[in-house]
Amino acid sequence: MDFDAAREKMVLEQLVDRGIKNQEVIRAFLKVPRHLFVEQALRERAYGDYPLPIGLNQTISQPYMVALMCELLELKGNEKVLEIGTGSGYETAILAELAERVFSIERLDFLTQNALTVLDKLKYNNVVTKVTDGTYGWREESPFDGIVVTAASPQIPKRLLDQLAVKRHLVIPIGEAFSQTLFKITKAEKGFDTKSITGCVFVKLIGKYGWENEN
Ligand code: SAH
Repeated sequence: MDFDAAREKMVLEQLVDRGIKNQEVIRAFLKVPRHLFVEQALRERAYGDYPLPIGLNQTISQPYMVALMCELLELKGNEKVLEIGTGSGYETAILAELAERVFSIERLDFLTQNALTVLDKLKYNNVVTKVTDGTYGWREESPFDGIVVTAASPQIPKRLLDQLAVKRHLVIPIGEAFSQTLFKITKAEKGFDTKSITGCVFVKLIGKYGWENEN
């Protein structure tokens, strides 16, 4: 399979045609080899318009959703960003193309190990990961110039808002277990502006300020 051609097609049909405009986001999507972030048997489907399983009941998000979230962060290249939900590491790699430094938290060690193998191979040296409950954020490294949560929460985890720099954005799906709304929350000098972006479906954010672990 010609992965480069599949990637270009994905960018045009799934991102550009749906309104993704940020040139840096488009450049990052043309560059990052998404097929390396899924297991061998799924590689030929890696550029499809859907999420795919990555093990332990988790998924690599649909390409468009990753692009939309990254575009909403409004990055210029010199930022320090926080990602909650490393998962496959694909969005981490895209963020590593768009920002100066990426801090990424995942609660499942197995996924972090797989993600790090690929991120190291692709030489993303500006990424730091940790395995823990990301709903607490990463206080020692705060404030962040952007925070993206790639799993759905029943409410906005307050600590993440506390760790966001003024005028910067937190992008997070909020809602029920199987249906949510993607929100862009911008920190003001006092308080926050909240903008609802679109309907979406993400796996659950499990942790102290997310959903309870049912396993
Ligand atoms: N951006 C990732 C999305 C993975 S799915 C990708 O495209 O591959 C969301 C991830 O969030 C899952 O891997 C899940 O284990 C993780 N997650 C859920 N709750 C979490 C929490 N409290 N802290 C950190 N990671 C969490």
